[in-house]
Amino acid sequence: MGARERALALHLRYPLNFVAFSRGFTSSHRGVDIAWNDAHGGPNMPIYAPADGTVVIAKDGMGNTYSSGIPDWGNYVKIKHADGVYTLSAHMLKGSVCVSNGQYVKRGQQIGRMGNTGYSNGCHDHYEVYVGGSGTEYRVNPVDYTYAYPDQDVHPGDEKEYGIKRYTPVKEVGNPVPRNPMVDQIEVLATTLRARKEPNLKGDVLGYVKPGIYNIYGEQEADGYKWYKPDDFWCANDKEETWIKVMRSEYVGSPVPRNEKVDQIEVTATTLRARKDPNLQGEVFGFVSPGYYNCTDRAEADGYKWFKAEDFWCAQSPNGDWVHWLPQKDPRYEITLMQITEDQRKEVEAYARAQNIVYVVKEV
Ligand SMILES: [Zn+2]
Repeated sequence: MGARERALALHLRYPLNFVAFSRGFTSSHRGVDIAWNDAHGGPNMPIYAPADGTVVIAKDGMGNTYSSGIPDWGNYVKIKHADGVYTLSAHMLKGSVCVSNGQYVKRGQQIGRMGNTGYSNGCHDHYEVYVGGSGTEYRVNPVDYTYAYPDQDVHPGDEKEYGIKRYTPVKEVGNPVPRNPMVDQIEVLATTLRARKEPNLKGDVLGYVKPGIYNIYGEQEADGYKWYKPDDFWCANDKEETWIKVMRSEYVGSPVPRNEKVDQIEVTATTLRARKDPNLQGEVFGFVSPGYYNCTDRAEADGYKWFKAEDFWCAQSPNGDWVHWLPQKDPRYEITLMQITEDQRKEVEAYARAQNIVYVVKEV
């Protein structure tokens, strides 16, 4: 980006909340004169910083010197912004300058009030913008670099006559997280990816998605795009899939809580392969997410003990590591059929099912 592009990217904000010009930028007047307005504080309207920056000159205490005929800014504030951009507001009301040399100011922070000091024949703000340096030779037409924000009023006639530009700042949304190969994630690469309330192009735009990595909580296809839900918003990948990089989980399996009433395994290795079949030639689905699983089958093959959980098999290391066999610990009840009625037997069965208890029926 050149100096001009960087200056434009600052999105300088007009220093007054009513934007109406009494004089434009010319070869002999290297700034714009902004007029006062009754609805916004009258002749001594507050003047605000056009962007974040450091005050390089804050001058106060001067009176009106118009009769002298010598050009003079009177009381003024000059601010150094990023990227070699400076702004200046002149002829401020005596005693109104509320910032000092070296002070850091935020965009929209009040710096003083409109006045009629120095070489001025009426209350106005003489506003200048400098691009590339602080010397007067760097002054540019403020209209080209300054924007009216949504909360600022613009004189309708001046908007056309002077080409006053408008700008609506866009919020950044989202809280990126670290890379986690255990879950499906996306990495937002684009810096101007829209975050929408709904997964379609008609949805409300909540702001731009802050670049970074996010867990995916939803996926959908709509309007010809693939949509992802990283936080409480949706965003779409472009057709070439350059805005969003999709990073699938390399892990399979959903561990369950420990339950001593069923046969379980505990996977402790973090790189245990999940295979379709209980042998080393079987297809690999990915790594098994560590944790407890209900075990539904066992096998021995290729010199390993194999355990089945969900729809995959995994092998124990020859010395008993990686995955541990945890057989159920529940007592087994012995029931003698002759001792109970049919109703009682049904009751026992229902209770055993509900409690996951294994019992043995002993016939006499
Ligand atoms: Zn002027």
